[in-house]
Amino acid sequence: MSINLKSLISVLDAKWIGPETDVFVDHISIDSRSLQNGSQTLFFALKGINNDAHTYIAELIQNGVQNFVVQYIPENCKGKANFLVVADTLKALQEFAGYYRNLFHFPIIGVTGSNGKTIVKEWLNFLLSPDYNIIRSPKSYNSQVGVPLSVIAINEKHNLGIFEAGISTVNEMIKLEKIVKPTIGVLTNIGSAHDEGFKNLEQKINEKLLLFKSAGIIIYQKNELVDACLKEFLKENQLSDKTLFSWSFTDNSADLFILKKESKNDKTYIKYQYENEVFEFEIPFQDSASVENAISCLLVLLYLKYDFASIQSRMQMLYPVHMRLEVKNGINNCSIIDDSYSSDFQSLKIALDFLESQKKNASKTVILSDIFQSGFSNEELYTKVAQLIADNKINRLIGIGATISSFAAKFSNSTMFKDTAAFIDHFENLDFANETILIKGARSFQFEEIVSLLEEKTHETVLEINLNSISHNLNFFKAKLATDVKIMVMVKAFGYGNGGLEIAKLLEHHKVDYLGVAFADEGISLRNGGIKLPIMVLNPESTSFPSIIQYQLEPEIYSIKGLNAFLKIAREKGLKDYPIHIKLDTGMHRLGFERNTIDELIETLKGNETVRIQSILSHLATSDDMNHYDFVISQINLFDELSSKLMEELNVNPIRHTLNTSGISNFPSAQFNMVRLGIGLYGVSNDPAEQKYLENVGTLKSIISQVRTIPAGDSVGYGRRFMATKETRIATIPIGYADGISRLWGNEVGFVMIKNQKAKIVGSVCMDMLMVNVSDIDCKEGDSVIIFGENPTVTEIANALKTIPYEILTSISQRVKRVFFR
Ligand SMILES: *Cc1c(COP(=O)(O)O)cnc(C)c1O
Repeated sequence: MSINLKSLISVLDAKWIGPETDVFVDHISIDSRSLQNGSQTLFFALKGINNDAHTYIAELIQNGVQNFVVQYIPENCKGKANFLVVADTLKALQEFAGYYRNLFHFPIIGVTGSNGKTIVKEWLNFLLSPDYNIIRSPKSYNSQVGVPLSVIAINEKHNLGIFEAGISTVNEMIKLEKIVKPTIGVLTNIGSAHDEGFKNLEQKINEKLLLFKSAGIIIYQKNELVDACLKEFLKENQLSDKTLFSWSFTDNSADLFILKKESKNDKTYIKYQYENEVFEFEIPFQDSASVENAISCLLVLLYLKYDFASIQSRMQMLYPVHMRLEVKNGINNCSIIDDSYSSDFQSLKIALDFLESQKKNASKTVILSDIFQSGFSNEELYTKVAQLIADNKINRLIGIGATISSFAAKFSNSTMFKDTAAFIDHFENLDFANETILIKGARSFQFEEIVSLLEEKTHETVLEINLNSISHNLNFFKAKLATDVKIMVMVKAFGYGNGGLEIAKLLEHHKVDYLGVAFADEGISLRNGGIKLPIMVLNPESTSFPSIIQYQLEPEIYSIKGLNAFLKIAREKGLKDYPIHIKLDTGMHRLGFERNTIDELIETLKGNETVRIQSILSHLATSDDMNHYDFVISQINLFDELSSKLMEELNVNPIRHTLNTSGISNFPSAQFNMVRLGIGLYGVSNDPAEQKYLENVGTLKSIISQVRTIPAGDSVGYGRRFMATKETRIATIPIGYADGISRLWGNEVGFVMIKNQKAKIVGSVCMDMLMVNVSDIDCKEGDSVIIFGENPTVTEIANALKTIPYEILTSISQRVKRVFFR
């Protein structure tokens, strides 16, 4: 790209302030920390909620940046650089990207939908890359900022673009459409829940379709609602019927009809009918989301006139997509950034910025494979790469691959290897220590082997918590609530074992209305951690009332005795209107005022100014079991009656709430003014149908401490409860019942996952260890072990042990370190 800044004045509707000369820029940046910023950079100063990039302009000018798009010129910067002043810098960035997009005339695939966008984009890239020079969105850059940045990376050598577009509410897609202008539209799985930002599913679909306003073809899974929306869409945009290209599992009027899909041995065989012919292919996945995503890709290939044989051979090579740039602790005090699955030039730029922002050591190392698909000649490409490595002040470059090796002379401090095996042979001589290492390579180089050499082997068992999944699950339930219904999230028992404070912080960020804890202590540690949200304490002991008040916690009051005790202390402290929560017993028979104590409750509270009824609540005993439907209804009715009576006679108007997670799903008409979400947030539903929409939150992981082979006749563990009937390989894992693994899960009832294969627990679970049979698994000391997570799920373990997921989750002892990631 080389763009005359003056030509942007009208594009951006900007005012030029600065010396009027012909200025050319070849790089766009929004990141003030990027070492790639230079004299040819045009810097867009975005203004976020927490961060205003205008404050970095002075520093950027000092570092040589001369061209800025701004909303205002900071005081001390006037006259020192060229400024294009606009009303809104984000809008300007988007307009610039739209203008830039229109300079190119090759096909662009635009992908949107609720699920699968990134995977479909990455898979299409893989499937089409032998035949095109592709530019695609890096990672999941699909937002109002990510999309323009993706598009700006197009260059003259590309001949196909694949961009994803994600939206969270109305009026966003129309902006992304102007930037991407796809010629081929792909609508991935749309999901059945409507997200927080949309009135209903229809509105969500209509919004997403806006991406396809100028597409020549729209690929989608046929269903009634989408068809209806599309019909309107075609009419409004004066597009012809021929624009649609649909597929279906059930409706044989679709353009492509799936006759059969069959999963076995980790593969799925898919048989389809297209233009009166029947074809078959396989993919190396079993789950239904992968099947749908692969079919979306199939239609793109068919539209691009790929023959059946290429489709078949490429589909079976699809691979799992890793999207996050992970920062890991490395050996010898190194830290490593693992980006070992992509190697295009654009993503190298992003990874280098990430390296700069995340570096824990001053010294920076990059391990880089040959780069494919850049569109440039090798000479041009490696000149650019060398420049980038120099600009980013990389202390050493380790190149792996025949091509990069042949350009060694371009790099100032480099070591080259012809392939990954050669690198591994020399690993010991490379003396990795005290450096931050970016590992970046194309899939075929199998850099995961390098990551595993460099990664510090942690001897701890950890519970990994995926904070994004928590946000997803929260939004899933929020979408079920009527307008103005508040949400309390239960974070009792350390957030159901997942970590109290970190989750509370995330919930505060998401602006939930209330937190609920079981005991005062739990509330106090949240306050000490800085949580400001109102916190209800379910089971406050009288002795904790003073600290409840000191820490501004709100007690649930469930008896006259408790009420009087609280009133006494509150009066002594001269409190007024202190918020309390009245618990009614409507059939659970655990805590709460029953019908026959309501009058006394009213009597005690009448005329008092010390406390204020902030809410009235009750708890359902069987909201998860529709066999007890009538009982739940009787509880809800009694709650309504008793709470109404309190409200009338005391002339108050508190928040009323009675639904827990399964109540939210099963009794939507009883939301009153608030619901109390618990287990669902942590990714567990009592309903298998609903479970599909939740994301797994916690993964309990450990490693192999030792592996041995025992002969037939030997035994394993205490009490010799496992007897080998043949030669058996045994691995020992450092996690036991003191960590929360039930002994009932031992003795070949339960298993752990090693290298995606089941390893049965043999013998009894010990206090701190357990042993598993790995005779059929190719594994070694230090390999990672999964105890639960996506497979097996806590629900599966709970079912096998005849208990409930709540117990499994909350049993994981506090000595297991919690690790949080996004
Ligand atoms: C734990 C709890 C909840 C949340 O229940 P889930 O089934 O986990 O959603 C709600 N209300 C009360 C009173 C609770 O104790």
